[in-house]
Amino acid sequence: MSHLFPNYARDSIDLVDGSGSYVYDQQGNRYLDFMSGIAVSNLGHKHPVVTKALADQADKIWHSSNLYSSNLQESLAEKLTAEKDYLAFFCNSGTEANEAAIKLARKATGRPNILSFEQSFHGRTYGALSATGQPALQEGFFPIVEGFNYLPYNQLEPLKEHLNENVAAVMLEVIQGEGGIVPAEEKWLQAVERLCKENGSLLIIDEIQTGLGRTGTFFAFEQYQIEPDIITIAKALANGIPVGAMLGKATLGTAFGPGSHGTTFGGNNLAMNVANAVVSEIGQPNFLNSVVEKGNFLMEALCSMKEHSSKVLDIRGKGLMVGIELDTPETLQWAIQELKKQNLLAIKAGKNVLRLLPPLTISQEELADGITIIHSVLNQS
Ligand SMILES: *Cc1c(COP(=O)(O)O)cnc(C)c1O
Repeated sequence: MSHLFPNYARDSIDLVDGSGSYVYDQQGNRYLDFMSGIAVSNLGHKHPVVTKALADQADKIWHSSNLYSSNLQESLAEKLTAEKDYLAFFCNSGTEANEAAIKLARKATGRPNILSFEQSFHGRTYGALSATGQPALQEGFFPIVEGFNYLPYNQLEPLKEHLNENVAAVMLEVIQGEGGIVPAEEKWLQAVERLCKENGSLLIIDEIQTGLGRTGTFFAFEQYQIEPDIITIAKALANGIPVGAMLGKATLGTAFGPGSHGTTFGGNNLAMNVANAVVSEIGQPNFLNSVVEKGNFLMEALCSMKEHSSKVLDIRGKGLMVGIELDTPETLQWAIQELKKQNLLAIKAGKNVLRLLPPLTISQEELADGITIIHSVLNQS
């Protein structure tokens, strides 16, 4: 009998080891990892640089406290803001990064309301849950935080109707992840940015799943020529060590003065040393180019499959964040189990989308192996 709350629908396998693009269960079965712990292990498992960063710091000081200065936080902030005029705040998870973003937006603008989108996912704590446009996730947890409204994604008219002098911020994912791998349309996102500016509302971009190179650029929004006011990241930032960050325009700094917001663990030395190593790795010449190339290779292979499989309705995504929309939720559950039988781990998104998130470090050969397995499963009748 399990002593855990049943709040997750868990598969029976227990992953106890990993190396590169492979993970191993307790029985020693090897799986090709096409989910990266939900876009966390972007550099694969046991990456030598990342492992060394953790071990080096483990031998020094694990935790000091935000009552003292931190060179590790400063150097990570400098890398993340890349000479742009942003400041960083470090926390421990995605949902916390979004909490910080929501609080900063309200305080900096003096306005109460946040607009987000249907099928979005921003996290499980009350502020982030209140921003999440999925009624099923809020059910039973009312009252949620006031001042949140959900609009249809990729549509401009509803946004125009709701933008007024009470709107502190518009918050969105560049590619909706949990919602089903739905990319923003370029024209729409650029119009959202312009409308926010005109209205004095901040644009918060949740890059928690799309960030850290997942889509072929460091942040996915870079592919849209926009400049968010606030950016949130987490998941892959320390490749599995819990960490989150909020980046905001330096002009917002005065709204977060001493004592306004904080966390005990946030910016912890272990997480910071690992995150510094992760961000440096992603910044290596050609790293992001290789993600683009592998993404193109994956997308082309899957699109040719679409023509041969009656089960595949659509294929969407960017870089190594790809969704295969299947005809029914039952097909999706069946496909995930069949892939597992062939030693490939992939997960769901939305109701009927098979989500592929291989490590960004995956080799061409491993990627091709995965594609062969996916072909063999989805082309079965
Ligand atoms: C996973 C995720 C979150 C929440 O992150 P946690 O670390 O689970 O709190 C928020 N936004 C997006 C887009 C995510 O994918």
